[in-house]
Amino acid sequence: MDKWLAKDLKYNWHPYTQMKDCRAFPPILIERAKGIKLYDNHGNFYYDTISSWWCNVHGHNHPKIVEAITKQLKSLDHVLFAGFTHKNAISLAEKLVSIAPGDLKKVFFSDNGSTAVETALKMSFQYWHNIGKRDKARFVSLDAGYHGDTIGAMSVGGVNLFNEIFSPLFFKSFKAPSPYCYRCPMGKDRGNCQIDCVNALEDILKKHSKEIAAIILEPLVMAAGGMIIYPKEYLSKAARLAKKYGVHLILDEVATGFGRTGRMFACEHANVKPDFICLSKGITSGTLPLGVTLITDTIYKAFYGDYKNKKTFYHGHTYTANPIACAAALASLDIFEEEKTLENLTEKSKLLHAGLEKFRALSIVDDVRQIGMIGALELVKNKETKEPFGFEERIGLRIYKEGLKKHLILRPLGNIIYLFLPLCTKTTEIELILDKAHRILTVY
Ligand SMILES: *Cc1c(COP(=O)(O)O)cnc(C)c1O
Repeated sequence: MDKWLAKDLKYNWHPYTQMKDCRAFPPILIERAKGIKLYDNHGNFYYDTISSWWCNVHGHNHPKIVEAITKQLKSLDHVLFAGFTHKNAISLAEKLVSIAPGDLKKVFFSDNGSTAVETALKMSFQYWHNIGKRDKARFVSLDAGYHGDTIGAMSVGGVNLFNEIFSPLFFKSFKAPSPYCYRCPMGKDRGNCQIDCVNALEDILKKHSKEIAAIILEPLVMAAGGMIIYPKEYLSKAARLAKKYGVHLILDEVATGFGRTGRMFACEHANVKPDFICLSKGITSGTLPLGVTLITDTIYKAFYGDYKNKKTFYHGHTYTANPIACAAALASLDIFEEEKTLENLTEKSKLLHAGLEKFRALSIVDDVRQIGMIGALELVKNKETKEPFGFEERIGLRIYKEGLKKHLILRPLGNIIYLFLPLCTKTTEIELILDKAHRILTVY
């Protein structure tokens, strides 16, 4: 084994990785990146088809972002964000409020997706506390949702293979069935359904709204749960229910934010007005960690008052609003305008859609899902019965290894193979990636 990799395995413990597997199948040592390509120490390249865990937007090392970061480093690296502020955080907050959907007027910075979610959960909880409705202390979420790996975020996520072991640590939350059309919880299909699954959410709210602070959802795409793309009608109905039953709506756009679904924010497809939006992954176009929670004025005001009234939000993270990360985010938002990133997505999205539809004919591909630059294929053992591949068959891993040989990163989510393409991916590259992926999956 290469001496760097030997040392890697000696010292590093990688996330979501059974380290024993690494002896036979060590990680790939990446030395540089450009556009949508990652280059390893042997000069091989890989198309970054999953945007380096869903965060790259404009391609790696975009010169404009590199310049913004370099420039910022020369003047101010970091400063605490309590008692101090800086122009990048001010400009970025102003910009985010100007592009945010609905009535989101305040920005609370943190440093990753899980913290952006924890912030929203704690704020919602304390909002009800501050206005004297102290029974409203629980959350509703979807049973295939994912909101991060910290204990609070896991508590409102679905319970699955990855986090089941920690479930004794979770706080109790209500779980509604997910609008997973391919495996519909109501046994229907889109032809004969009136979004019936949302009734289960309403039942929970009808019974328990007095104890519920908020509903938390990933709008339109339940990403880590299997790139489950659901009808926008579900989201608008859920938003209406939140209003009707007097609970907050927290939208977790950590994965879907910044253009991934074809609009700047996924909730724009359904025209909903959330009380909170959580952002992170794409915010700096995959260069530096940054988290943001956007909040309405109504919520903000419930915390505003004399010190002695104890309404203050005592919460914060050390690297909150890091000036270099904010500089990267500002540059990324400028690129959206200069390169007309969103305008260019319409054609790319159509191409991705048409290309993926062709995978339906393959013997192991049953459901095909797509929105914006996200596409997913659900692999099954038997298309008649929708029987999934077993956990031990590791079909995803087998395809992943084949993908790497063809320069693709087809990192599976269980039995789902997906693309989560950087928005800058060119139409010719989309065609090439789809062609390679098709060849790989044809073999099975
Ligand atoms: C990745 C993700 C998170 C967690 O973000 P981290 O930065 O990994 O903590 C939260 N919500 C959603 C929807 C995500 O996809």
